[in-house]
Amino acid sequence: MDKNTKILIAGAGLGGLATAACLLQAGYDVEVYEQASKLGEIGAGIQLSAPAVKVLHNLGLENALKAVSVKPQAFEFRLYNTGEVLHKVPLAKTHEESHGAPYYHVHRSDLHQILANKVLELGPNSVHLNSEATGFTENNQNAFLHLADGRKVKGDILIGADGIKSAIRDQIVGFTPPDFTGQVAWRATVDVKKLPANFMEKIVAIWCGPKKHAVVYYLRSGELLNFVGCVENEKWQNESWTVKADWQELKDDFAGWNDEIQTIIDNIDKDQCYRWSMNNRVPIKNWRTNKAVVMGDAAHPTLPYMASGAVMAIEDAAVLMRSLNTNEDVIEALDMFQRNRVDRTGRIVTESTEHGDLYHLSNKEEFEAGFGKKNIAKERAEWLYSYDPLTVELI
Ligand SMILES: Cc1cc2nc3c(=O)[nH]c(=O)nc-3n(C[C@H](O)[C@H](O)[C@H](O)COP(=O)(O)OP(=O)(O)OC[C@H]3O[C@@H](n4cnc5c(N)ncnc54)[C@H](O)[C@@H]3O)c2cc1C
Repeated sequence: MDKNTKILIAGAGLGGLATAACLLQAGYDVEVYEQASKLGEIGAGIQLSAPAVKVLHNLGLENALKAVSVKPQAFEFRLYNTGEVLHKVPLAKTHEESHGAPYYHVHRSDLHQILANKVLELGPNSVHLNSEATGFTENNQNAFLHLADGRKVKGDILIGADGIKSAIRDQIVGFTPPDFTGQVAWRATVDVKKLPANFMEKIVAIWCGPKKHAVVYYLRSGELLNFVGCVENEKWQNESWTVKADWQELKDDFAGWNDEIQTIIDNIDKDQCYRWSMNNRVPIKNWRTNKAVVMGDAAHPTLPYMASGAVMAIEDAAVLMRSLNTNEDVIEALDMFQRNRVDRTGRIVTESTEHGDLYHLSNKEEFEAGFGKKNIAKERAEWLYSYDPLTVELI
């Protein structure tokens, strides 16, 4: 694709910024339109596996990433009451040696900042805030991004990176109604200084129990402990990261769980508990028109049970850049991107849902049988982590 190609991106989340950075680095003319009035991210921890870390390293972000990350030793799936280990997935050295890049935990706002700095270094005027996309039009030559304040911005290609409630996806495939899973995610962080010394090893502890599970890991060089608690709860249907809920309800949700979980919950700031209802959306196969395409959560929103939503968005960024580099024609480029991403992302979305069932069984015997049948360590090594978006053959 001609490097003068003007590429419009709606949304400056992790996916939109990773895409902007990859495309600017490749020499394209990129403009990003973000609805918020300032660049930033909310939320807490994010896990990044080798496929995403390789893309970030390729952007020259190795040192910046290393400075704010934690390298966990392993995933440890534990029984909710006794803490007995049900299954282990080695990370750290094993992950790095097998897949060519580290497994990292990073605070979302740190990762967002690192990506934003890169985008602004490569394209100082490329990000436009207060710019809410409402839809687009296109003709044979151009795509026009429509903004809520009446502006219509002209480009050659439009990329919808506007997240789970994407206006661009709604226009391409029609409104995809969220399918409430009946599960909510609590999220909070704990200042490690408040916890007993050497509280937990540097691992990802996934506590599995009846109708709920909790994921615990360190952030910011071990200064913070990240807690996510996924609970079956039919009543709460607010799909927003920014809505707080009552600490006592969190405490009640995990009543009877292991002392380690009680210590974590007891040390969470009582007015800093957030709760988000988790919706599923059936994977869609058509992500594009002739001039516009969606990526990241706008294309393949997923439940977080394989910690791969942002990873997929960052993989998308690299494959999209390579598809544009490989083709002269916009339709062929967008088609190549879609063709090479639909199956992998669809598999991750489907398997993430299945993981939710495995984590919420009733008792020790069921968990032992469930983990006995599903060797997560082997499966993830074989296909999830071994993918390299920078070198995988594009068909
Ligand atoms: C509890 C939980 C834990 C998770 N843990 C992990 C993990 O460990 N690892 C992992 O890889 N993933 C994880 N994820 C998933 C990950 O957070 C998402 O997949 C990722 O943030 C998607 O990035 P995105 O850029 O596509 O969308 P978003 O992050 O939603 O960004 C969309 C951006 O577009 C902007 N926007 C929205 N609408 C418009 C509009 N109309 N016009 C202009 N701008 C707009 C938004 O303001 C935002 O900046 C988790 C998710 C949850 C819920």
